[in-house]
Amino acid sequence: MAGGYVKIEKFSEGRCRQMFNMKVVQPARLDLDTKFNFRCHKGIKCFTLCCSNIDIFLTPYDVLRMKNRLGIPSEEFLEKYTVARVDEKSSHPYAYLRMAADSERRCPFLVVPDGCTIYTDRPVSCRYYPVGQAMLKKREEEEIVHEEFYFFVKEEHCLGFKEEDKWTVESWRADQEADLYDGMNREWKEILMRRNLPGKIQLDPKKQAQFFMASYDLDRFRRFVFESRFMDVFDLAKEEAEKIRTDETALMKFAFRYIKYLMMMEEALKVKEGVVPPKKETGPKTSKQG
Ligand code: SF4
Ligand code: SF4
Repeated sequence: MAGGYVKIEKFSEGRCRQMFNMKVVQPARLDLDTKFNFRCHKGIKCFTLCCSNIDIFLTPYDVLRMKNRLGIPSEEFLEKYTVARVDEKSSHPYAYLRMAADSERRCPFLVVPDGCTIYTDRPVSCRYYPVGQAMLKKREEEEIVHEEFYFFVKEEHCLGFKEEDKWTVESWRADQEADLYDGMNREWKEILMRRNLPGKIQLDPKKQAQFFMASYDLDRFRRFVFESRFMDVFDLAKEEAEKIRTDETALMKFAFRYIKYLMMMEEALKVKEGVVPPKKETGPKTSKQG
């Protein structure tokens, strides 16, 4: 990513964690108390097979954890380890792990035969596997509510289902720290769901760049907030400004509010009295179209 640019590619159809090939998705909708057998371990014949030839969709909290695990800034992480693709339906740009450019398409964090080198900070979709998670938007009386649900992903090569360890979806989620990840990403995912609402806004390339920065490029977003006119324009309490300066997860959640402001979803940020708000499409240049 020379010069701090992220090359955004068009979305390609493929096998993506969270957007699975429907042939491997089991049609039944699971409850938290649905039972299943599963064990994944180094001695199993299929060990590491699930970490190649797949596209791994990333959430903001995935990137935060992985860049900190590697001890590098978000810009460097995104440049080295991800590709950005625009989902043509929603026009949102998303980050995916950059797989090897050969026929095996191995994950950059996979070492054979040892496995995942960032295991305790692996992305949430790797944590959930072989359970898939999705969100449904429903209208309840006057309110739109989001309901999370689960399904099995059964790939032929995965032998873990033949093992004897017993789980429920709930105990699997707890074991995989999925609650923490879902809690961190929930507000962002709800923003993504709004793409289906009437009157949705298609993002132009400049807004896509801002969306991408606020979603994934946290160190750049911090500079945008504290080293541009941002603080002169938006009305932020002193304590809140201090919190987002010093607490990365608070900064990430503040970035979600900025995305809402950008997408004109609600009055997520208040402009100071007497200040003319900046045009939302202006801001630091963070990406270009590929
Ligand atoms: S991040 Fe780890 S668990 Fe996920 S695909 Fe890569 S090597 Fe596998
Ligand atoms: S294919 Fe299934 S059992 Fe085998 S390593 Fe991957 S998750 Fe574990």
